[in-house]
Amino acid sequence: MNLEFDEQDEAFRSEVRDWLATHAPRDWSDWMSASREQVMAWEQTLAQKGWLAPGWPTEYGGPGWTTTQRYIWDEECARINAPRPSIFGHVMCGPVIMAFGTDQQKAEHLPPIANGTRIWCQGYSEPGAGSDLASLKTRADRDGDDYVVNGQKIWTTWAHKADWIFCLVRTSREGRPQEGVSFLLIDLNTSGIEIRPIHTIDGEHHLNEVFFRDVRVPMANRVGEEGQGWTIAKFLLNHERSSVGGSSGSKVALAQLKGLIDSDPALRDNPAWGKRLADLEIDLLALEYTNLRALEKARSGESPGSMPSVLKLQGTEIQQALSELRVEMGGYASLPWKADPVGEPAFATATQIYNFGRAFTIYGGSSEVQKNIMAKFALGL
Ligand SMILES: Cc1cc2nc3c(=O)[nH]c(=O)nc-3n(C[C@H](O)[C@H](O)[C@H](O)COP(=O)(O)OP(=O)(O)OC[C@H]3O[C@@H](n4cnc5c(N)ncnc54)[C@H](O)[C@@H]3O)c2cc1C
Repeated sequence: MNLEFDEQDEAFRSEVRDWLATHAPRDWSDWMSASREQVMAWEQTLAQKGWLAPGWPTEYGGPGWTTTQRYIWDEECARINAPRPSIFGHVMCGPVIMAFGTDQQKAEHLPPIANGTRIWCQGYSEPGAGSDLASLKTRADRDGDDYVVNGQKIWTTWAHKADWIFCLVRTSREGRPQEGVSFLLIDLNTSGIEIRPIHTIDGEHHLNEVFFRDVRVPMANRVGEEGQGWTIAKFLLNHERSSVGGSSGSKVALAQLKGLIDSDPALRDNPAWGKRLADLEIDLLALEYTNLRALEKARSGESPGSMPSVLKLQGTEIQQALSELRVEMGGYASLPWKADPVGEPAFATATQIYNFGRAFTIYGGSSEVQKNIMAKFALGL
């Protein structure tokens, strides 16, 4: 891996910087809290440029970027805090369909993801099946050319704003629990689906429960073979974990905190803040280089091993440490529980982000689960 930028890379950086300066929305930056309309408008703007799915090959409507170009893209987005597209389509479901889907599934589902016209959500977790995902109970029973789906998903981010959900379902109760799992694509407009909101500690509605009552799903919507869902689920989780542990959000937070220290003499005069920020900056740099090594491995077709777990663990711990530091630096100004429109702008959302940030080390698989995976695959325990 070579991170010396040549002339072509610098020309690419200029192109990205100029384009973002004229096209990136400035009134919002986090897709999770944005409206469906805001996210779709931004995704379609990115799609028109061919930049919505940075990791996709040109064959499926991606930009076919090199690792260095993806790094530059990330840096430039972080520099101006440009919003990222929602991850369920282009990071999770798209790569699954590319790797395991039929030609018909590719033709039906990849273009709307690449065009930013269809929003997906993830139906993995259930009450009683989070870390122990293989114990999931939502069942899909064959009936003619359809499956009939019954059961419940929980913690489903953005189900209320999505068009489709990809789901792990149980198609068999024989053998090991993992062997009876299949992967289904389900249109959320199908009759028998009910979505109920879950409000999180930050006071927002990002999450949902999704209930399935006799929902008919064509068998043609199953990705891979019946019973292959566990293999597909793990493939997808690797993509999710690498993305969740990404460094761009932390880069933005770090730059903002540095700016605060530079501009506020009270913060600048206390060396403790600078020291903690410097420690986090070093950790972040190490994470970025680990991430680049992982991307290079993926490009050369090597198995990622436990790398996605390393990235997820380290990336989310840095995200939490930064949110904690902002609350501490703000002191009294960080006290409001929710975003405070009349508070000091730098700290108006500090506690809200800190509170929601407890979830960083839970979603996509908790830190304990990532450590178990690393113990098994990296240390052979
Ligand atoms: C904000 C947010 C968004 C989410 N979005 C989605 C989504 O869109 N789609 C979706 O399907 N899911 C989603 N989830 C669910 C998430 O994947 C689960 O919460 C997570 O996998 C943990 O499962 P659980 O909540 O059932 O906790 P449990 O599995 O019950 O774990 C409870 C505690 O026990 C620990 N633990 C469990 N097993 C072990 C073990 N073997 N060894 C050591 N410790 C262990 C865990 O680390 C945790 O601390 C989301 C969760 C959150 C918080």
